[in-house]
Amino acid sequence: MKPIYLDNNATTRVADEVVEAMMPFFTEQYGNPSSMYALGGEAGHATRHAREQVAALLNCSPDEILFTSCGTESDNTSIHGVLEVAPAKRHLITSRVEHPAVRTTCRYFREQHGYALTELPVDAKGNLSLSELESSLRDDTALVSIMHANNETGVIFPLEEIAQIVKSHGVILHTDAVQTAGKLSLDMQKLPVDLLAISGHKLHAPKGIGALYVRRGTKLPPYLKGGHQESGKRAGTENVPYIVGFGKACELAMQNMEKENTSVKALRDKLQAGLLTGCQNAYVNGDETHRLPNTANISFEFIEGESILLLLDTLGVCASSGSACTSGSLEPSHVLRAMGVPFTRAHGSIRFSLSRYTTEDEVNVVIEKLPAIIERLRSMSPFGRK
Ligand code: PLP
Repeated sequence: MKPIYLDNNATTRVADEVVEAMMPFFTEQYGNPSSMYALGGEAGHATRHAREQVAALLNCSPDEILFTSCGTESDNTSIHGVLEVAPAKRHLITSRVEHPAVRTTCRYFREQHGYALTELPVDAKGNLSLSELESSLRDDTALVSIMHANNETGVIFPLEEIAQIVKSHGVILHTDAVQTAGKLSLDMQKLPVDLLAISGHKLHAPKGIGALYVRRGTKLPPYLKGGHQESGKRAGTENVPYIVGFGKACELAMQNMEKENTSVKALRDKLQAGLLTGCQNAYVNGDETHRLPNTANISFEFIEGESILLLLDTLGVCASSGSACTSGSLEPSHVLRAMGVPFTRAHGSIRFSLSRYTTEDEVNVVIEKLPAIIERLRSMSPFGRK
């Protein structure tokens, strides 16, 4: 049975065109881009072309693109690098809803290196207060790291306004745009962001390839030290097939973005409306007006998300829940907690995330089958309520 895959914020199917573009670089053009002979030259040429394709997606110069192994590496490279360059600045600002790639790294600097860390709160809809951001900036703030769109709720932060505030104080701004690249247009000529992290596997390239946009003039020492690859900014032999695939995926994303922003959004809206109508006590988490077109995070109150996922799985439906099973207890996600979503709702939250491959038939199956699952689980709920 082909799965009904509604977990595209976790990872995406690699596009056929991407696989096709990558294949020769495993078997025929397998050279090392640093080698002098023609085989190496071919790999070098392909890497340069891919860098241009990624740069085109961000409307920046190819020399501002650094290939990394993933979004997490891009985030770590940024945070570690900026702090290394300005050792006298001991304050960091981030938000309470960041992905662990940023959240854990910022907390590492607080806990292991004594940095002051401001984690900005969000409101009930997941929005950030810009005045609070502005008042948190200090003379010794080294870095602001704020994501563009949230992976759990899809809520989009106003990056342009954030950037204006941060840059007017002369502070370096890093943004985790892992969930936005390929879904929203990103124009680095208009966005005064210094460092921007993206990841291949969220936009139909393979897992294990990412990139970091580094604005020209931004000082950033290499996180991985060693050889002179990536103009001395990131050591390690280039993963040529994946770089080629990532480039192709960015090209496809550029071609499809407008169409997807309408067709994927229409399917997401249909799914959301169908579930809210079909299920009692169902609520949308996150600001619906500033949200990624592919994401709907819905709470089914009084039941556990894990139970819903297990029953959905028996129907071949893949989604994810807003709680993580840690040390035997189900801990609601830090994102929903930061939004103040009540415990009984946070536990029953499910994230549906669609892609260009999602079909209307698939959405119809979920709208048809999920209400019965919710009814069944609720009748067994210890809360004994509907
Ligand atoms: N940042 C965000 C917002 C994400 O959603 C993810 C992945 O889920 C990451 C960073 C990490 O990306 P990667 O899996 O490429 O390390």
